[in-house]
Amino acid sequence: MNLRRNFPYYMWRTFNWHVLKDHSPIVASLKLTQRCNLRCTHCPWLVTRTKELTTVEWKHKIDKLWQRGCTVVVIEGGEPTLRTDLGEIIDYCRSIGFFIILVTNGTLDIEPYHPDVLWISIEGTQPIHDSIRGAGMFQKSFDTIKKYQGKKHIVTLTTLSKKNVGDIENLLATLSPHLDGMWFSYAYPYHNIQDEILSQEEKIESARLIMSLRPQYPNIYNSDTFLKEVGCGWKCYPWLMIVVTSDGFDKDGCMIEHIEKNTCRNCDLGCNGELSKLFEVSPDTRNLWRKNVGTPITLELFGRQIW
Ligand code: SF4
Ligand code: SF4
Repeated sequence: MNLRRNFPYYMWRTFNWHVLKDHSPIVASLKLTQRCNLRCTHCPWLVTRTKELTTVEWKHKIDKLWQRGCTVVVIEGGEPTLRTDLGEIIDYCRSIGFFIILVTNGTLDIEPYHPDVLWISIEGTQPIHDSIRGAGMFQKSFDTIKKYQGKKHIVTLTTLSKKNVGDIENLLATLSPHLDGMWFSYAYPYHNIQDEILSQEEKIESARLIMSLRPQYPNIYNSDTFLKEVGCGWKCYPWLMIVVTSDGFDKDGCMIEHIEKNTCRNCDLGCNGELSKLFEVSPDTRNLWRKNVGTPITLELFGRQIW
């Protein structure tokens, strides 16, 4: 039994965070490589680092992250399936006890990999996705989704900006029947994409739209608690997640600082937002974790959720 994936463990961590003021992270993001087979117009990571840790060095790093209290590992890039040792790294994370999320653009072969959850990044329906990721890329990712529908736990990740905010309903209608979940986040105002960032009003309107569509699309994974605060300056606890770049550099605190000086103004990153709601013990974020991270951090008795 994995002791880190149960209700008392999360209560213990919450006690430590709030009462003992322990600021240890719970999610580790491993940017295994910054190489990618695509050249998306908005990508902030592509050319920032070229050196990569070896398999042994990654395993050493993964051990340290577990010792620091991380329970969820998000394996991403670049495109992580370009690493020939990806399967070995996933297996190693599993042998330790991590819950494993693999983030991919879904255009390469994912058959050999068995993470707990597969997150496939989708920018919008075909014309929008292809305008950002390249001609034919939507169909490739969609084919991957359909091929593994019901065989792997698949969730899409869509980062909202001026380019795709008008496409939310189309995207839900197209993809939702094939997926376990759909997750929306908001583009961070990196210096190269400031023109694409939604205004506060546009963000609030889109978050309301997503909430209104939940009855029709119950596999929307965002929590209402976070969506209600989008565009309104929610409180962030960035130390809950630690990001390790491909060259092995890690740093507690805001992941944006791996790329450029951060500004919290107009930041509505879904990952940090939902994690911060977890810290604040929000009920529907706990439900989200149960669905997406497989962790029963809601209290159930006789099959009924009582907290
Ligand atoms: S698929 Fe991801 S890592 Fe690759 S270029 Fe696009 S945004 Fe960057
Ligand atoms: S920039 Fe965003 S993720 Fe970073 S500390 Fe500010 S709100 Fe959190």
